[in-house]
Amino acid sequence: MADSAEKPAGSRQKQAGRGTLTHIVHPFGPVYDKTSRVLILGSFPSVKSREMAFFYGHPRNRFWKVASAVRGEAVPSGIEEKRAFLLRNHIALWDVIHSCDIHGSSDSSIRNAVPNNLMPILRSAPIEMIYCNGAASWNLYEKYIRPAAGIPAVRLPSTSPANAAFSLDDLIKKWRRINAPIDHPELTVRSCRLCPRDCGIDRLFRRGFCGSPAWTVAARAALHPWEEPCISGANGSGTVFFTGCTLRCCFCQNYSISQENFGKSISTGRLAEIFLELQDQGANNINLVTATQYVPQVIEALEADRGLLRIPVVWNCGGYETVETVRALAPYVDVWLPDIKYFSADLAGKYSGARDYFPRAMAAVKEMIRLSGKPEFREEVLHRESAAQGTPAGEAGAQYGNTGAQYGDAAVGAVRADAPDAPQPAGYGQSLLLTRGVVIRHMVLPGQYRDSEEILRRIAAELPRGQFLISLMSQYTPFYKSSKHPEINRRITTYEYNKVLDTAIELGLDEGFMQEKSSAKEEYTPPFALQGI
Ligand code: SF4
Repeated sequence: MADSAEKPAGSRQKQAGRGTLTHIVHPFGPVYDKTSRVLILGSFPSVKSREMAFFYGHPRNRFWKVASAVRGEAVPSGIEEKRAFLLRNHIALWDVIHSCDIHGSSDSSIRNAVPNNLMPILRSAPIEMIYCNGAASWNLYEKYIRPAAGIPAVRLPSTSPANAAFSLDDLIKKWRRINAPIDHPELTVRSCRLCPRDCGIDRLFRRGFCGSPAWTVAARAALHPWEEPCISGANGSGTVFFTGCTLRCCFCQNYSISQENFGKSISTGRLAEIFLELQDQGANNINLVTATQYVPQVIEALEADRGLLRIPVVWNCGGYETVETVRALAPYVDVWLPDIKYFSADLAGKYSGARDYFPRAMAAVKEMIRLSGKPEFREEVLHRESAAQGTPAGEAGAQYGNTGAQYGDAAVGAVRADAPDAPQPAGYGQSLLLTRGVVIRHMVLPGQYRDSEEILRRIAAELPRGQFLISLMSQYTPFYKSSKHPEINRRITTYEYNKVLDTAIELGLDEGFMQEKSSAKEEYTPPFALQGI
């Protein structure tokens, strides 16, 4: 055996069915410094690496070729060059196992493993993402480290010569995703300022206002029929509901996930798989619901899907975003679906805990419009066999009036609830899907139609015409803690909704969607049972 002569200090040998097992303590230390942003874990050093006392010493292991190609550098040679390459590129390197009984370099022979303690690295370096080099490393991580640390790691294809299924080019493509956390130091969960709350806390060890950890937590991924028709279409929107929220709306219909934090921790590897699974199910788009607190993870997952995801990405948010976050997302997002919930700081403070809501949301929406430009559409291709679950093809999006059509002068009477069977106007109906642009949502609150009207006046005065759509929602239902505020503990009246609708039309805001009054139904809240997660 190649390594049978190896007898490091403290080693002892045992006989096992697969050959001689040698007890070995990891013979060298990790590489990292205070700027390391990704941590790459192997399983345990091979015989060659143990001889050289450095990582990936076997000449046929492709790690150094892959890592240098991904970072656009020449392949380093010699331990000091390799160490300098890693540190310069903010890459930390370590292994899952501290000591074990092992036969040669065989991961499958590992017995009596004792894991390494990652905390010294995680506490002193701003590691954003942990990657495992190959299935063996990932399996060991899942078995020995994740149960205690709770941090999901991403499995990358092994650079070992034994992984013959992957060519060097294939490996480089798959490993490119590590660039996202390395190259976006501003998108950090280790000193989180992803939203206007500006918590500045380390989400690996603490929770900020949103209650979200440093990794992704999600509650549902499924085809969703109840967005605007140009989003859901007939096939449904591939919706991922994320856990936690940067707002604290007392009437939130998704409160079990947004406020009570129901959900499952997943790696960005799994998130990237989920996006592709929704595409395979026939989704018209990937609809990211309340994902602001997971911007780095979403970007990393979308990077992993680069070249594979062919449908638009929809950013479906409460509008409470920083301009910086919108800019970081812009290369990855095709359709923006922000709320503008309140004009009044008093209402925003009272019902959502965000007195600065309107100026923040307005600035974010202006930036979304500036970055995305005029709305663009395409005809929907029906996938009858994969239509949104629970809703036959052709009925998805049905809550938005009968067609969710443009509500211009001629159209408005036709789509009002009191004339549901009237002929429908042409416009943004179910056959046209939005592929790019901004849809501003506003849900009318009970007793607050004057605030809605002020929002519309600001939109009309400050946002460029023809560059966005508007969706006026009547579906308010008194969920969650609404009962603590008697004035909003009811549904809105037809009078209130029509006042807002009339104001929109008077202001010329006539491109977009309205809802029938009957849209206020609890059934529009999907069940959260980790479907598709
Ligand atoms: S995303 Fe969460 S932790 Fe980060 S600033 Fe916003 S509320 Fe705070």
